[in-house]
Amino acid sequence: MHSTTNKPFTYEAFPASGQVAYFSMEIAINPAMPTYSGGLGVLAGDTLRSAADLGVPLVAFTLLHRKGYFKQHIDAEGTQTEEVQSWNPADFCTEEPARITVSVEDRTVTARAWRYDLVGRAGHIVPIYLLDTDLEGNSGWDRGLTDHLYGGDTNYRLQQEIVLGMGGIRMANALGLHVNVYHMNEGHAALLTLALLESQLGGGPLGAATDTDLEVVRNKCVFTTHTPVPAGHDRFSTEQTFRILGNERTSRLQKLGVFKDGLLNMTLLALRFSRYANGVAMQHGKVSREMFPEFPIDAITNGVHAPTWVSESVQQMLDQHIPAWRRDNLFLRNAIDLPLNAMISAHARAKEELLAEVGSRTGLVLNPRVLTLGFARRVATYKRASLMFTDPERLARIADAAGGLQIIYAGKAHPQDEPGKQLIRDVVAQAHALASNKLQVVYLENYAWDLGALLTAGVDVWVNTPRRPYEASGTSGMKAALNGVPSLSILDGWWIEGCIEGVTGWAIDDGATDADEALSLYHKLESAVVPLYLQAPEKWAQIMRTTLAFNGSYFNTNRMVKQYTRNAYYPLKLVENPNVEEPVYAEEQQMSDR
Ligand SMILES: *Cc1c(COP(=O)(O)O)cnc(C)c1O
Repeated sequence: MHSTTNKPFTYEAFPASGQVAYFSMEIAINPAMPTYSGGLGVLAGDTLRSAADLGVPLVAFTLLHRKGYFKQHIDAEGTQTEEVQSWNPADFCTEEPARITVSVEDRTVTARAWRYDLVGRAGHIVPIYLLDTDLEGNSGWDRGLTDHLYGGDTNYRLQQEIVLGMGGIRMANALGLHVNVYHMNEGHAALLTLALLESQLGGGPLGAATDTDLEVVRNKCVFTTHTPVPAGHDRFSTEQTFRILGNERTSRLQKLGVFKDGLLNMTLLALRFSRYANGVAMQHGKVSREMFPEFPIDAITNGVHAPTWVSESVQQMLDQHIPAWRRDNLFLRNAIDLPLNAMISAHARAKEELLAEVGSRTGLVLNPRVLTLGFARRVATYKRASLMFTDPERLARIADAAGGLQIIYAGKAHPQDEPGKQLIRDVVAQAHALASNKLQVVYLENYAWDLGALLTAGVDVWVNTPRRPYEASGTSGMKAALNGVPSLSILDGWWIEGCIEGVTGWAIDDGATDADEALSLYHKLESAVVPLYLQAPEKWAQIMRTTLAFNGSYFNTNRMVKQYTRNAYYPLKLVENPNVEEPVYAEEQQMSDR
């Protein structure tokens, strides 16, 4: 929309001072720090890495997770066992002298923060503060509150969320930070809104908060939801909330209407207090608006931090042909003009590296010329890890026709997720049953950052089979795309936006049942993937190139953080500017219902 008046309008500038405080229960900060479990943490880390690259004034808060997520072992039958993954914060972080307290049940818990400095490519620093309650003076229980990521029961979780949300705000104040935007990455940090309200009231009773007080808090907060199904939202019982959070706070929350079906709903709390909220892909935005029709919810599609996830060999190729790609990932669109043989050999090197890792971990010698599929992610039942084995005989026939097929699996099930653990056993059992000189299936232990990078870069096709609409976004297919690896996936999450059939990969068609969708998966392998791989290496290389050009240039956090900056943190606003003589044409930002 063009401005039709002659008034001198311009965009509101970024504030001259202050910064964004980003809150996330998990952040994949460094491959050697086990402070994340899966996609949410990797997204948080990639967001911060891009914010550092782009020079966005931002600080982050999370919990220390002294005992980490877990190290996964899988025995010959596919049974998962978990090992505590302790690490030493002092090896990576600096302890801050500040101490803060929060009240939990009837106790006062003291916390400190460890600072990790994330340094961007031009030297800009995004500090990450990891909150830690392992201090003398706290009870044994309280000292363990920041030990386990997603461990324990809902009592433990709610207490952790008090430390993250309310403790984080107090720590930001104790550190003297000047924050003008609070970003809640998922509902785990929603209690920060209560702490902001308490600050706003200067210690006065919460019951006295006026609409203006609520509005003041709301104007500082933005929220990203990541969960497309109601059961996935963080919820706590009324009894628990009264007991752990106390009467005054719980009564205030009840008055705010953020209990649903007798449960404190953290998504609802975050939405109630956010001036801007978004889902993580277009489809997820829609699903979220249907779940919470009373709130406007926008969509900013996820991305990944390109330099983190592009393999060494592809980086070298890009540095040679598109030297500006690190500064601005949009230049990756120029990959459309890469020499095909450069793309082919860069991918071949990434594949060799992956197969070497498989060999050294398992003793299995895989063939670099054979079509290799990858499937690695958290083992949640909705991701249907065993869908490919719906008809094992047909899969074996496909492998025969392809002159060989290799499938590499990896993924952790949450320690308390028995159906997920059973899925790993199923896949391992199928791997044994199907093993032949034409078909090799291998399940690798302990899927984490490094293995994720090797897999997404080194396989030929990245497979994803979530049950619609459970995959809010998914990001591993984006890592593959940045390495020129096409996807074969259900049209859910990001893939609805990323799939151009035969150009960036292939869609598995929607079916009424799991079996129908498995049929479509087989059909796409037989009719599209295998023939191209076997008979048309040049066309295959073109697909790698278009995948990198079209999807690598868009599904990255460089683009995503810019979108957050101008839509969520410091939205575009037209303001009168007496210093500008000529009208400036501008687009009005709008939240459309796509
Ligand atoms: C990227 C990544 C994920 C997220 O992948 P999805 O496609 O969203 O399932 C999870 N775990 C690790 C270790 C990753 O690197």
